[in-house]
Amino acid sequence: MKKWNIKLSEFGENTENHLRLLIENEKIKGNEEKTKITMRLGDPSVFGNFPPHPSIKSAITEAIQRDKFTYAGNVGYIFAREAVAEYASHMGEIKADDVILTNCCSMSLEMCILALANRGENILVPKPCYHYETFTNGIGIEIQYYNLDPENDWQIDLVHLESLINEKTKAIVVNSPGNPCGNVFSLQHMFEIIDIAERHCLPIISDEIYEFVTFGDVKHYSFASVSKNVPILVCSGLTKRFLTPAIRCGWIIISDRGNKLQEIRKGLIQKIGGRGFGPNSTIQHALSNILKNVPQTFFNNVNARVDNNARLLFDHLNKIKGLRPIMPKGSIFMLLKIELEKFPKISSSMEFMQLLIKEQNVYTFPSECFHFPGYLRLVLTIPTDVLLETCTRFEEFCNKYLNNEQ
Ligand SMILES: *Cc1c(COP(=O)(O)O)cnc(C)c1O
Repeated sequence: MKKWNIKLSEFGENTENHLRLLIENEKIKGNEEKTKITMRLGDPSVFGNFPPHPSIKSAITEAIQRDKFTYAGNVGYIFAREAVAEYASHMGEIKADDVILTNCCSMSLEMCILALANRGENILVPKPCYHYETFTNGIGIEIQYYNLDPENDWQIDLVHLESLINEKTKAIVVNSPGNPCGNVFSLQHMFEIIDIAERHCLPIISDEIYEFVTFGDVKHYSFASVSKNVPILVCSGLTKRFLTPAIRCGWIIISDRGNKLQEIRKGLIQKIGGRGFGPNSTIQHALSNILKNVPQTFFNNVNARVDNNARLLFDHLNKIKGLRPIMPKGSIFMLLKIELEKFPKISSSMEFMQLLIKEQNVYTFPSECFHFPGYLRLVLTIPTDVLLETCTRFEEFCNKYLNNEQ
């Protein structure tokens, strides 16, 4: 008799998201004498204090009044792609043909990586960084991590980056404004990165999901607007800047320089784009209104409020012995360095995170999740009163564990 023996595929086994894995396998219980504070998910809509602009709701309401719910081809309706092309005009001359609509920025990233690399080949990604390995592990595409330098505005260690490039390298992934560091690259630094890509004839996949989420005078420039000869695949969407993770609407913008991506463009549109019969098409009827009707003042206000939270958090945490917050320039995160030598009973940022849950009911991500131990990632979109309460708890916690003889 044949026996049932249904096993998860190699692809399934190898596909992991470290952040989710950590949450699902966590056995620690939070201290129930205190309210639970979670600064974990990079989702600005969790607490309700950052609602999207009301025009987005109207645009979606209007879109779902339609009676037809048809497919929109592999990469979206031409009018929706035109709307994104217009929105992306800051990148230079972008046409509807250069836009591929997807169901989220993650999907955009995955499509670009799959279009460029085979099993056994590699892509370069930052460390610390977002979980790009989720898109590559299952396939057997290798990742080479290049260092970001916390002492130098989290800029890329360019010598290290270049040293990792070999004949199997297929693309450089960059992320600015960045998760989890809150780094925003200067124009000068972008030129330096592009210069390396050009010398090695490598395309850049630019994860710009936090485009324009910057603080104070800091400006966001798209890699697509800065590059002259290096082809850029910009991945973005509505998720972060528009405060609407639920919508699941993303895109790829192909900023090709001198037709170097001809094959990739064709592969993305005609082949890889066909895997899911194309992106959500209902939302595409709302897209033009969403992209046009949210006023600049709304974005400015959101940025100012996130910036304000960042400063507040920085000022409070900076006064606590053993903690060293690093002020971000953009995105919705801050990394907090734990000076572990000052906490003799705590051996790692992972253990610090666990004890913080157990004793203070405060949930954070340790930077082990980003392959860069020694830090905690804090989310900046939580309500200000909760943020202040968090600082009080950090202080109480540190006072208990600090080696007071030092
Ligand atoms: C949130 C995030 C994404 C994913 O956005 P989705 O549209 O939800 O897939 C991609 N990259 C970075 C760096 C992010 O923080």
